[in-house]
Formats: sequence, C-alpha cells, structure tokens
Amino acid sequence: MDKQQSIIEESLTALLEDESFLPDLKEQTRDQAFKSLVSILSTPNHIHKSFLRVALENGMIIRVPAFRVQHNDTVGPYKGGIRFHESVNEGEVANLAKLMTLKNALHELPFGGAKGGVVINPRDYSNKELNLICKTYVQYFDDILGPSKDIPAPDVGTGEREMDWMMGEYKENHPGEEYRGSFTGKSIVNGGSLGRREATGKGVYFTFRYMMHDFLRENKKWLSETDNRFAKTALAHEDQSLRMAVQGFGNLGSVAALEAYKCDYLQNKIVAVSDQNVMVYHEEGLDIPALVKYTEENEGELPKTEEDLQNSDIKAEIKERDDLLELDVDVLLLAALEDQIHMDNVENIKAKLIIEGANGPITEDADKYLADRGILIVPDILANAGGVIVSYFEWVQGRDTQFMDEDEIYKKLYKKMKHTMDTIYPQFFGDPFPLRQNCYIHTVMKISTIMYRQGKLY
Ligand code: GLU
Repeated sequence: MDKQQSIIEESLTALLEDESFLPDLKEQTRDQAFKSLVSILSTPNHIHKSFLRVALENGMIIRVPAFRVQHNDTVGPYKGGIRFHESVNEGEVANLAKLMTLKNALHELPFGGAKGGVVINPRDYSNKELNLICKTYVQYFDDILGPSKDIPAPDVGTGEREMDWMMGEYKENHPGEEYRGSFTGKSIVNGGSLGRREATGKGVYFTFRYMMHDFLRENKKWLSETDNRFAKTALAHEDQSLRMAVQGFGNLGSVAALEAYKCDYLQNKIVAVSDQNVMVYHEEGLDIPALVKYTEENEGELPKTEEDLQNSDIKAEIKERDDLLELDVDVLLLAALEDQIHMDNVENIKAKLIIEGANGPITEDADKYLADRGILIVPDILANAGGVIVSYFEWVQGRDTQFMDEDEIYKKLYKKMKHTMDTIYPQFFGDPFPLRQNCYIHTVMKISTIMYRQGKLY
C-alpha cells in the first residue's frame, strides 16, 4: 500500500528544507511536521469494503467484493472514479485514491481524493446484472456518498451508463436532495457535461503538446543554456516528426491518439496502438480515424487478424501486444493499466518521452531508472487530470443547473491545465528533479499549507 511513499518523503524533505515553506513553523517542530505529513498522506482516512449480493439472471446469487477508499479530504469532498476490473484489490484502490488526492490538489480543484473498485470483469455480465451491481454498490455505500461528501466518476471498466444508473439509484434514496452532483461522468441528457467523455484524452495530449511546442518555443533561450538533462531531451525532439506508440485504445488512448494524429504542426506519426488483444502497427503511420471507426463498430476492439485488416481496408500489420512498449519510437503514450513498465522490461524501453495517460503505469524502480537516463516522463497526476477537471465543471453545472457549451468547457479545461503547467514547467527545467517530483512538491505543499492553516499541524 505504500506506492508513491518515497517520492512523497523526498518531496517533503525538499520542502521542509526551504524556510519559506510554512515559515511560522518552529524549528523544533519541522521534524514532527515531516512525520505527521508522511503518515497523513500515506494512510487513507477510510477504507470501506463490502461484498455486494447480486442475483444473476440464471438465478444464482453471487457475492462481489467492492471498495470505496476515501484517502484525504483536506481540500474538499472526496472525489475519484469507480473501477470495474478483475484485478481490483484493496491495496490498488488505496493507491489510486492517494493519487486522486495529489492530482486534485495539483490542479487546484476543491476536492480530496478517493477511489472505488468492484472485482468483476464487466464483460462476463449481462446489462441487467451490471445495472444491479451498480445499484447495489450505491445502496451499500449510501452513508458515505453524496454531492458534498464523496463524488464518484468513471474509471477503467465504467462509463456514462454506469454513472447514470448509480445517480438514478442515489436519487431514489435521497428524495428532495439536489442529486445531480452525486456522480460525474454522466450522459449529457442526465446532467452530464459536454466534453467530459473526451476530456481525459484531450488533456493528456494537451500537456504534451504544450510542453513540446508552446513552452519550448517561448523559453528556448534559457532552456538551451541550462545543462538540465530533461531540457536536453525536450529540445532534441523539438520540431521533428515524432514517432509515437499508444498502449491502450479505450476512451483515453483513442481520443489522445486522435488528438496527436490531428495536430499538424507537431508532425506526429502514430506507428503503433494496442488493446487487450493485439498491437496494430504501420511503419508509415496508422490511419487513426479509421481505427477509431473500426473500434466503434466492433465492441471497442481493434482489428485482431490480418483478415480483419483487409476487410476494413486499414493499412497495417498485427503484432504481439506487449512488444509495443519496446518499439523504437520517440514517444510512448501509456493509456492502459498500472505497472506496465517495470524492472523486467525497463532496459528495453527506447522512447525518450513518456506520457502517463493511465494512473501509475510505471513502477517506482523503473521510474527512477528512466529518470536517471534523462527520459522525460509527463506523470499521471499532471497529464491525465482532464477527466476530473471536467468532472469538476460537471459538478458545478449540476449544482447551478446551468450548462456550458463544448467550446467553453475545452477553453476552461486547457486554461486550468496550462495554469498548472506554467507553475511547474519553469521550475522543473531549472532544477535536477524529475517532473513527477516537481508535481509532488507542488501538490504536497498545497495540501500541507491548507492543513497548517486549518490548525492541523503545529
Ligand atoms: N477516474 C478518473 C481519474 O482517475 C476521473 C476521476 C473523476 O472524474 O472524479 O482521474
């Protein structure tokens, strides 16, 4: 359960060495503050666990393990997705909840962090059964959820449909209450926000584009004068045709790939994409819109065989799924699950730029290994916050029952992410820490300052 632990400790050490951080904190209590903050940030406030009782259509009754971990509410009500996946477990949900605390504070959203999970493979259940699982989840965790307590959203294996069902059940159990803010990521007709579905993928590509284009351009002079290893990596890839590989082609990977494909001034060439079955590869660059169309017509799956490719007229070849990570490309966009790059494959990674669309796709050891070699990693809490940022807009719109148009949503989304990047990037390229550590320093500073001001640290 102690992922991100060492990076949180390193960030706090760096912060507390700086006298301008919590300047009123007395010398002798700085050490205590360190210990308190480490224990607060490394431990969730609550772990809620249940075994949902679900009657299947064949009459059988099953018990499905389900979790809601509320990590920290210093900054506001708990917020984070609910994951439906076979590998969900308590430790994983707790780690993901911690990442939500850090992500929300980094982007100045008025939320704490939480995460939920249900141990199922949604493909094994009928729609009716999934509907029942969603309703039962909301019934079991009824006391702890609500628009000003804890607001779930989609994550791996869940989407608009599940959020609609869950909000429907919440509404049923809370007559007279303003229910629209109880869940985000809902469908538009049901009070969802325009742009929410695309927000994570668009945001992921935006962080990369902003760094490699706008920021490099504006800061070229001093960046080329520093001997910062990450600045060197970024500059070495400026104004080039970048070869990209995208791991994962779900809601996140496909939207991010499409954004990259459409961005003409960065001359990206997406040579490979993968899903849970295969890798689709084309040396000259894939036709991403055609692949998106294919997945829309084929239950979300990429073409699996050469025959599938021929029938759909897509120029590509089918390769082994897991070889994607080790391809000779400039950019890897990780949009699948956690722990994909680890000590067993890290030596074979050839990309110099890695974007974390998924949460925690690189293990801690592998992360250090890559950073030491000057590989520039745009970390999850910075890159994939588009989803929760638009969730925030959805929550506000639901509360005010006033809705924004799509242009307004994207404008506000990019403005928010740009603001975070403008705070972090100059510092990052100026000091020796990797970008992840810079983000952690920033977000831990924010959470600690709020706790201090609320009288929780002496
Ligand atoms: N599950 C998404 C994430 O990991 C979105 C969370 C939300 O919108 O609350 O950031």
